[in-house]
Amino acid sequence: MRRMVYQESGGCNPCLHPLVHGLGFLLMSNKPVSITSKVVLQLVVWIPLLGTAYAIFSLWGRFITPVDLTLLVVGYILCALGITIGYHRMLTHKGFEAPGWIRGFFLICGSMAFQGPALNWAATHIQHHANSDDDMDPHSPVKSFFHGHVGWILDDFRPDVERYAGPLLKDKLVVFISKTFLFWALLSLAIPFAVGYAFGGLKGGLYGFLWGGLVRMFLNHHVTWAVNSVCHTYGGREFVTTDASRNNFVIGLLAMGEGWHNNHHAFPRSANHGMHWWQIDPSAYVIGGLEKVGLIKKVVRIAPERLAIRRIQADVVEERDVLPGVVLPSVIMEHGTAMAAAATTVAEVVSHAAAQQPTL
Ligand SMILES: [Zn+2]
Ligand SMILES: [Zn+2]
Repeated sequence: MRRMVYQESGGCNPCLHPLVHGLGFLLMSNKPVSITSKVVLQLVVWIPLLGTAYAIFSLWGRFITPVDLTLLVVGYILCALGITIGYHRMLTHKGFEAPGWIRGFFLICGSMAFQGPALNWAATHIQHHANSDDDMDPHSPVKSFFHGHVGWILDDFRPDVERYAGPLLKDKLVVFISKTFLFWALLSLAIPFAVGYAFGGLKGGLYGFLWGGLVRMFLNHHVTWAVNSVCHTYGGREFVTTDASRNNFVIGLLAMGEGWHNNHHAFPRSANHGMHWWQIDPSAYVIGGLEKVGLIKKVVRIAPERLAIRRIQADVVEERDVLPGVVLPSVIMEHGTAMAAAATTVAEVVSHAAAQQPTL
């Protein structure tokens, strides 16, 4: 059935603004990457870094103003939640159901994080789950830490939306927000400029753009990328998975709960990534709050018995922690198409594979 969905959507990539095609990891087509694209991509990666360096340098002559700080903090939180709740837990893993206006709000916030259209992000992430720390993983730090962090983007990675997120192409809201990605991304720079301008004229606008635009973008980028690099390299493991995913407290805090990455790989559909009270997970708190007031429903949570089954036993932790390099070729081949369809299927296949191979 899912295979048919791919065939139906074959060759029908949504057409994006030409500039979006120049944003490398934001791409939706399989055409070769042009020189212009490479230049735009480099700018998107490095300008926020240079802007942040300048912002820090500027603190010697001028303290950050309350307006700048507010723009940075509010912008960071909204964009981060757009990624964690909107792009990741809601869209990619279907961790809960929400009405259109809430879905739209979070997907727009995610677009403002400058991490590519929602469809691209979901396809890339499903590919990651389906091939974690294997050759086909887009951003495994097994190749090198730098590759897992940002090198994969600079290597002109192109998401295969039809293969990995084909069913989402039928979702009109998701396709619309993906097509208009560039508008929302640029709006995320225009708003802090406008607010800064309203409080302090042109100079205020430029500093608003610096702190609420470039610095905020730099932090959103590198914290998200740290989930891919740091959380597949440093931290503890509580659950059996077929990859090198780790739980990292610091990234857990900075990335609104996404740092509990071993938990997430063990239970991809769970709306909660923190599985203990002390595993701080702000995204889960927001999801829980929205559920309490009746705005979202069908929130996926994992029963304690299921957690217990997947928990790494202390006496075999060394044997089971031989990561990465645990591959399941036969199972992956058998379920290849289904795995590509949705993260829900990935979860099932990984569970199935783990059950079939008791040494994992
Ligand atoms: Zn991962
Ligand atoms: Zn995920």
